Amino acid sequence: MVVERIKFLKDEINKHNRLYYVEDNPQIDDYTYDQLFAELKRLEQENPELKTSDSPTQKVGAISRRAGAYAHKYKLYSLDNTYDENELSKWYERVKQDLPVDVKPSLACELKIDGLAMALTYEKGVFIRGVTRGDGTIGEDITNNLKNVKSIPLKLAEDVNIEVRGEIYMPKSSFYKLNEKNKESGDRIFANPRNAASGSVKLSDSRLVAKRDLGFFAYSVIFEDAPNAPDNHYDALMYLQKLGFTVNPNIRKCDDIKGAIEYCNEWNIKRNNLDYATDGVVIKVNEYSYQASLGYTARAPRWATAFKFPPEEAQTKLLRIKIGLGKSGAITPVAILEPVFLSGTMVRRASLYNYDEIKRLDVRIGDTVVIKKAAEIIPKVVRVIDDGHHFERPEITAVNFCPFCGSQLVQKPDDVAIYCTNPSCCGQVIAKLTFFASRNGMDMMHLGEKNVAALYNAGLVTRIPDFYRLTTDDLLAVKSIKEKSAQNIYNGIQNTKNNPLSKLLVSLSIPNIGKETAEILALEFGHIDNIMKLTSEELAWIPNIGEVIADSVCDFFKDRENKKVIAELKELGVNMAQDATNYSQDLMGKIFVITGTLKSMSREKAEAKIKNLGGKATSSISTKTSYLVLGENPGSKLEKANNLGVPILTEDEFMSMLNTTK
Ligand code: NAD
Repeated sequence: MVVERIKFLKDEINKHNRLYYVEDNPQIDDYTYDQLFAELKRLEQENPELKTSDSPTQKVGAISRRAGAYAHKYKLYSLDNTYDENELSKWYERVKQDLPVDVKPSLACELKIDGLAMALTYEKGVFIRGVTRGDGTIGEDITNNLKNVKSIPLKLAEDVNIEVRGEIYMPKSSFYKLNEKNKESGDRIFANPRNAASGSVKLSDSRLVAKRDLGFFAYSVIFEDAPNAPDNHYDALMYLQKLGFTVNPNIRKCDDIKGAIEYCNEWNIKRNNLDYATDGVVIKVNEYSYQASLGYTARAPRWATAFKFPPEEAQTKLLRIKIGLGKSGAITPVAILEPVFLSGTMVRRASLYNYDEIKRLDVRIGDTVVIKKAAEIIPKVVRVIDDGHHFERPEITAVNFCPFCGSQLVQKPDDVAIYCTNPSCCGQVIAKLTFFASRNGMDMMHLGEKNVAALYNAGLVTRIPDFYRLTTDDLLAVKSIKEKSAQNIYNGIQNTKNNPLSKLLVSLSIPNIGKETAEILALEFGHIDNIMKLTSEELAWIPNIGEVIADSVCDFFKDRENKKVIAELKELGVNMAQDATNYSQDLMGKIFVITGTLKSMSREKAEAKIKNLGGKATSSISTKTSYLVLGENPGSKLEKANNLGVPILTEDEFMSMLNTTK
């Protein structure tokens, strides 16, 4: 049981690490991630025999594999964290226990800036290199990009040899402006200021970095040769300021943990007034001599810890309810809110799920509501604040007719949702088309709900095959689509033609068919033709495919219109086969080169695994290489990969890609 839970947690954390650090695309919020991490740490402490060196609890971040890999001279660490102030007191007790009896270390408290850690090297006072933290040992050399960040001084006030660490961030106001601009041009919309900073600082054209408003707060330093170096952290920050760095002004020296806790509570409230995102407070033992005797674990310093602010809630007003329609025809009420800032983003809508939920919350139009980001990135309404007028407002009642096609809605037995059962309802058709294009469907980049609806309303995409008939001129005929967007959308659509069968099966919105079932079917039968000729009985023989799914699949492919859709998609060049025997979303179509010796398996075995999962293994690096896998004693391929900007994978990352992706 514990073994399985630990395996689950490791796989889950590795997956989210990749999404967060490498793809800048987190799919759960930090609080949920931290809960998973804390559970793994606890289970490993209780069962030390199950703790392995490849556990995420023993590692720092991950290498985001875009630019040149660079080995840090001094390792960079992460920080242990807690959401509980009692844990802070316990941490301080442990610190005191590990130091001589009469010692009472002072503490430096700083805001934990929610950005990206950088290590900047200065020789004789001149900026010579800037590297991201990466996995603490290897980061990405982005010196040229960092030279375009105004608050990173290129020449210091003294000719010192130092390594300065700090955080690159994007002000909240600049983040909004950037997203507004990108929305117009059809470019990438960032989830929060941290992602925007990360995406900006790693742009391949360093001149563009200057156009992004990035800041840098210095928060620590390693002195190699600096005659005036102080002997404690707080004074070192003051010294960094004198050298020309920007240090966050809200630092405070405290005599003990009580003062530090006061600082945490104070900033938990005041942080909302800042124009940059902070996710907590960092508390550091101030004296360098004590820091040295406390040392580090594999992942974090023992002399510092982070207090993370609890997940934010925000109050706002419910303006109206917008009725949405899911691809299954389910009516989905969405709360339209007075815009409010919550956990790094401006929130305008929140989930209300269904009318049972509205009744449970007793939420009414005009009410002040509390919203929260919990397990999902999409916020939800958690409760109503009674402002004295709640009961004067009318209760919200469920709609009886579909707001899109006017058909009578149906309540299915044992189901909280109400459904529109008219198959040609335009709301449902748009929902199905939107799903087909979405990330969980075929993943047509740059094509979101709004543009799908616009294409439908313009009569350009009314059935699935129409996506693949669109030309850039067609796209430009839609008012909201600008020239650059049109090309991006067109390319995004064309790129999905080679998707494996499993992805196509999910995208078709076959009732009861999710990602897992689609993969079972695709792997078992290899080609859509083989699935289409099966009877319901034959399908029900497949493990994990019950009668309901079998009937659903059979009915779907018996339908004349659906048969026609498949025939047209074939004709338009959409792939209908699964290809790889054991397909993996992350490896499919990717080209790997391995350099050096892998600890976990022979190179031949690794190459066979790559092929099995749908990737390609080759022996020479080119611009087409998707990843270089870095074994021990790497050869000249590493340098070549760096020169060509080929992303690098450590062995651990490669193994987690093989093990956790499907
Ligand atoms: P961290 O961000 O919790 O703490 C370490 C980092 O704090 C340092 O590397 C540094 O960049 C930063 N920092 C900011 N201000 C600082 C200051 N004044 N002094 C010192 N350091 C300062 O640790 P991490 O290892 O970078 O990331 C782990 C965290 O990232 C998790 O706790 C979680 O919040 C988040 N995460 C989220 C997901 C997700 O899917 N949502 C996935 C992975 C990680």
